[in-house]
Amino acid sequence: MDQMLLLVLALAVAIGVAALALSRSRRNTAVREAGPADAPLAVSTEGMKICPRCAMGNLWTARTCSACGNALKG
Ligand SMILES: [Zn+2]
Repeated sequence: MDQMLLLVLALAVAIGVAALALSRSRRNTAVREAGPADAPLAVSTEGMKICPRCAMGNLWTARTCSACGNALKG
């Protein structure tokens, strides 16, 4: 009877670890698909679009950077 309980417990732990590993690998995949990791700035924040080239804050409606004319994402 104790062995059965231990087996169920071990199985539950194994499933928990597997689920954790799966969610971690999924998160890594999502980060990889999000785009190049070399951009340290978010595309937009607080109603502003940040220029990826010069880090100038632009209005969220702007399509190009007001400082350098670079095309803005989003
Ligand atoms: Zn710019």
